[in-house]
Amino acid sequence: MQHLSYLDDTYREQADTSVLATGEIDGEVWIAVEDCLFHPQGGGQPADRGWLDGIEVSPLRDAESGLIVLKAPDGGGLPALVAGQPVQARIDLEARRLHAALHTAGHLIEAAGRAQGWILAGNIHFPNQARIEFTDQSGDSRLAEPEGRQRATVDLRDFAVKAIAADLPVTAETDEAGRRTVSIGDVHSAACGGTHVKSLGDLSEVELPPLKVKKGRIKVSYSARHADR
Ligand SMILES: [Zn+2]
Repeated sequence: MQHLSYLDDTYREQADTSVLATGEIDGEVWIAVEDCLFHPQGGGQPADRGWLDGIEVSPLRDAESGLIVLKAPDGGGLPALVAGQPVQARIDLEARRLHAALHTAGHLIEAAGRAQGWILAGNIHFPNQARIEFTDQSGDSRLAEPEGRQRATVDLRDFAVKAIAADLPVTAETDEAGRRTVSIGDVHSAACGGTHVKSLGDLSEVELPPLKVKKGRIKVSYSARHADR
């Protein structure tokens, strides 16, 4: 069994583990490890960067085996390993901290939008292009005018500032069926398999430029960093 340890601890950088399986996708070799620190791209969050025995690898979810497998990025080589062999795994912790901060800030903005009566329509938590999109089925008349959109943006910012000042805890629970639910205090709850900070005080420089409305979609861009604590 592969254990997805990135779900247990966002900040775990290294693991001494062993090779669970190896295989091929489209002629490219992959390696799966038992104790998997590596978050693959998904749910709006980018893939981790990492290393196996010092050689760079890139994780992705293999639909056929259901495993998270590691491939060489951009035609590089993989270490010569066979199932059962011990191996040292490591992730780029700085990148992970940023991804977790952006991802958690995305949940916070989702909560702020829901508080406006909007419905989540999409999310991207990638650095420099993070954005949450909503649809508005309540007919928020402010959104038709620039001044109203500015007021709505200020409401979102106020919601985020208050929640961060309160240092609301970010928690995850997995039920018996394997469904994982992530919550921010009592302001947000969603099914999620991503990595998160421990509480909103771990976020820094959360910034929302004025929201945009295009083709019936409310687009809220944002940026965030991980606090130095
Ligand atoms: Zn999440």
